[in-house]
Amino acid sequence: MRALTDHGGFLLARYIFITGGVVSSLGKGLASAALGALLQARGFSVRLRKLDPYLNVDPGTMSPFEHGEVFVTDDGAETDLDLGHYERFTGVAARQTDSVSSGRIYSDVLEKERRGDYLGKTIQVVPHVTNQIKDFVGIGDDEVDFMLCEIGGTVGDIEGLPFFEAIRQFSHDKPRGQCIFMHLTLLPYLAASGELKTKPTQHSVKELQSIGIAPDVLVCRSEQPIPEKEREKIALFCNVRKEAVVAAYDLKSIYEAPLAYHEQGLDQAVLDAFGINPAPKPQLDKWLDVQDRVNNPEGQVKVAIVGKYTQLEDAYKSIKEALTHGGMANRVKVQIEWVDAELFEKEDPAPHLEGFDAILVPGGFGERGTEGKIKAAQFARERKVPYLGICLGMQMAVIEAARNLIDVKDAGSEEFDHEAGGKRFTPVVYHLKEWVQGNHKVKRKADDDKGGTMRLGAYDAALKEGSKVADVYGTCAIEERHRHRYEVDIKFKEQLEAQGLIFSGMSPDGRLPEIVEVADHPWYIGVQFHPELKSKPFDPHPLFKDFVRAAKDTALLV
Ligand code: GLN
Repeated sequence: MRALTDHGGFLLARYIFITGGVVSSLGKGLASAALGALLQARGFSVRLRKLDPYLNVDPGTMSPFEHGEVFVTDDGAETDLDLGHYERFTGVAARQTDSVSSGRIYSDVLEKERRGDYLGKTIQVVPHVTNQIKDFVGIGDDEVDFMLCEIGGTVGDIEGLPFFEAIRQFSHDKPRGQCIFMHLTLLPYLAASGELKTKPTQHSVKELQSIGIAPDVLVCRSEQPIPEKEREKIALFCNVRKEAVVAAYDLKSIYEAPLAYHEQGLDQAVLDAFGINPAPKPQLDKWLDVQDRVNNPEGQVKVAIVGKYTQLEDAYKSIKEALTHGGMANRVKVQIEWVDAELFEKEDPAPHLEGFDAILVPGGFGERGTEGKIKAAQFARERKVPYLGICLGMQMAVIEAARNLIDVKDAGSEEFDHEAGGKRFTPVVYHLKEWVQGNHKVKRKADDDKGGTMRLGAYDAALKEGSKVADVYGTCAIEERHRHRYEVDIKFKEQLEAQGLIFSGMSPDGRLPEIVEVADHPWYIGVQFHPELKSKPFDPHPLFKDFVRAAKDTALLV
């Protein structure tokens, strides 16, 4: 729904381009997401987009060590984790067309060239690459009031130049006042002189201006309050209105960002820059409640995440956030500890896992660490500790049950045999090569490219009536996001169910197990999909909400 159409007749979306300068990791994604939430609070509709200068065609094949989590959209795109922030703050489901990299842009341009679409012309960065970027930016601009486009990286990066040139041209092509530029910078504090330094910000804005972009709003990250004098200086030297120099201070929780930015006047500065006057008053109750729940927990639970990429928490970004949301729903703080599964592959896991109120085994790829994860699943099942297995974590739970409940001693996954190039396991989890999506069949060959060969995006599941998950969801029909190649084999369903591992969620055609649960257990659920991707602070995912509730019950027992 658009609220802005009646402001002077029909207008396409207004654009806010968000860039960064001085250093990376300033929180551009968070600032964009918070601004999106604030514009929504004023009754406007928004969509957020990320343009990344790296040359990888999509983030799907990038190492989580380097790049953090891959965020999957309903329509099956593997995207940058910033889209997760966007969704968590605005509740707007991200789409394939909300994330693009230089690699994707160049590959599309080259494909067109190969097809002869350019009629043999010389292909150049300007205009061919920039036009491709502009076309991307403009997709769906009749759907929302505001389109927020974040450019990855920092101004001055070589790879970023085509994007900066494209957004400069884009704003020039549009009627005056339809696009604004918001730039994030850093004000370093020099303890020796007790001053905030504005020079890096001035240089960064100069760099932007040299490529034809004049920022309308400056967001300045700072550890110290920005004195009035410095604000005036920035405004003067950077050619920005003083009210449009917005401070961004460090926060205890990211969920304070919308209110903090509102207090500093970010949304007002943006609406002023567009000349939207008078601006509708914001409804901030939702964020006040979120802030209250984050800042005032009434207890604490300790959850172990047993995984492989434990050194890099960004690899499990959405899980961490979804647990926080679950904690907010139960008014407890969720203390997460990252446990490296490889530590107890050959030993008793008890010393590593005792003392936790719940155990979560997340998604993952490859054999490394899996024997430890299987032990964690066994520990949780036998000791009746709440267990949530996500994707690989569900596969581990089924392998554990096959080995220890129905005596398939060498139960394993084809994924591991595929890696080792031999047959060492009885495959309880196998490589799926053909499945149904909506009303068409998808087929894959075993040796397809690494990129894009997975079951990706939203799929329906039918839940068993009377099961734990049906109760948790409060419905028997769900839709969740997937990202995996392998599936649990239904061959073992009957035997496992007889021993208490219930297949309580299945694909609508009954072929693919979506959820398993242990009947005689306070809380033991494995899911083939990624529920964490759909959780929001103001609307926690039911599985995470109930998992944390179960953890809270365990904590109360001790
Ligand atoms: N590696 C497993 C598969 O491809 C699990 C994937 C995941 O956990 N996302 O099926």
